[in-house]
Amino acid sequence: MVCPSPCPPVKSSLSLSLSALLPRGRVLTSPAQLAGYGADGLGYKKYLPDAVVIPADAEELIGFMHGAKALGVPVVMRGAGTSLSGGPVAAQGGVIVHTSAMKTIRRINTDGFWCEVECGVTLNDLDAALKPHGVFYPPDPSSGPVCTLGGNVASNAGGAHCFRYGVTSNYVLGVEAVMLDGRVHRFGGPAGGRGAWREDWKRFMIGSEGTLAAFTRFWLRLLPLPEKVWTFRATYPDLKTVEAAIHALVAHPSYPAAIEMLDPRGVAMVESSQMACGLPEGSFMLLVEIDGPEALVNARVQSVANLLRQAGSADVMFSDKDDMRQKLWKARKASGGLLGQLSPDYVVQDAVIPKRALAEVLQLVYDEADAADIRAVNVFHAGDGNLHPNFLFDSRVPGELEKVELISKRLMQRVIEVGGTLSGEHGIGNDKSAYMPLVFGPDSMRLQWAVPAAFNPAHQMNPLKVYDHRRFIA
Ligand SMILES: Cc1cc2nc3c(=O)[nH]c(=O)nc-3n(C[C@H](O)[C@H](O)[C@H](O)COP(=O)(O)OP(=O)(O)OC[C@H]3O[C@@H](n4cnc5c(N)ncnc54)[C@H](O)[C@@H]3O)c2cc1C
Repeated sequence: MVCPSPCPPVKSSLSLSLSALLPRGRVLTSPAQLAGYGADGLGYKKYLPDAVVIPADAEELIGFMHGAKALGVPVVMRGAGTSLSGGPVAAQGGVIVHTSAMKTIRRINTDGFWCEVECGVTLNDLDAALKPHGVFYPPDPSSGPVCTLGGNVASNAGGAHCFRYGVTSNYVLGVEAVMLDGRVHRFGGPAGGRGAWREDWKRFMIGSEGTLAAFTRFWLRLLPLPEKVWTFRATYPDLKTVEAAIHALVAHPSYPAAIEMLDPRGVAMVESSQMACGLPEGSFMLLVEIDGPEALVNARVQSVANLLRQAGSADVMFSDKDDMRQKLWKARKASGGLLGQLSPDYVVQDAVIPKRALAEVLQLVYDEADAADIRAVNVFHAGDGNLHPNFLFDSRVPGELEKVELISKRLMQRVIEVGGTLSGEHGIGNDKSAYMPLVFGPDSMRLQWAVPAAFNPAHQMNPLKVYDHRRFIA
């Protein structure tokens, strides 16, 4: 048959195929609908998908995955899109699967301390549902009001309290995953890798950044809510004294749940905003939290306050009262939002270093950023050595993005040299894929490539992520 000119565009044939897989209204293809899916938290890198699908439930997602291979385009999973590493974006085009409708908390089991949740449940919704039962789920990325458990598991998210409690991988008992041909696998369950679901490959799934399968639901481990929480805020005149405080805290028997830091540039940002809270100019701010059984925690309060003073702080404040604790957290919590207001674009880097190298690596960030005339603010999880230098820039100004990328590269090189690694919690995505050979040699890379290929041989799931040459070939 001769095709009447002009031939139908590829996109319309894709949308036709998608309409056969999902009910009406669950497939988005108009440019206005797709515009909101072009980027993640790294807003300056844009990749428009060809289509977005929003399955109503696991059945619809399975139906979509069943026919996805035949679509011949990449498939990219997306929760809330808050990733800061370029993860849930259609870097090679294709279909984004948005999980926003799959948000049922299916079970909270307070006897066995686990819950069963769908992948689109937001972290804060889970927290709110757990609280009346006297239990909690510890991983706490600051994006909690919107980020989803699916995104958290796929990027092995961390957060402020992960210094003591550990990151997401410590709390995932089971993962239900749909493969590209629609087959459903359960890796673990309420009993972890024991009991009925012995295929204990869940650790493989955690942190896989959407490259292996689509996760539909999880079984998560819970803990009893701590009886008592004390929050401390202290400021320090220089890097040497704040570093001494961090080292002393890490070794202290109170075993803090959180040790967070804001550098003087972060302090200046907060103090020049409506969120000002009276922090001394030029100071480094530490935010520390201890929690646990009431009698035990109360007995340790003074020794933590003394430790903070002895390390060189002249203004240590602490409280166990909720309203006061919120005030002490204010500068730390406000900093994320303020960063977004200071410049058209910003990159939050994410690297882990041994704590002994903290001062050296922070100095490198300042030196590199100052030399390139790029503003840098550090707000990070100091207890775990999880650095987050924020580089503020304007991607419309020629050369600015290149400068930031060069600083990031030098930072990552140094991070590796001091014994650290490329990501503490945000994942690799396509932002840091070029740095993978800094850490992994050819043998390791060959094995790592083989794993996603076993799940989807043509690399159809989230191509160009984690490994920059991992491209989908239809
Ligand atoms: C202000 C702010 C603060 C942040 N603070 C923290 C922090 O403290 N700690 C931290 O770890 N992160 C933090 N982040 C980063 C981000 O919020 C986390 O990485 C979070 O886990 C992403 O969740 P999401 O639902 O937005 O996932 P998305 O961004 O949508 O996706 C992230 C990755 O998961 C994959 N994915 C999503 N859903 C599924 C699924 N159902 N099946 C398979 N793969 C899936 C995607 O393909 C992508 O690779 C922060 C981000 C912002 C904007």
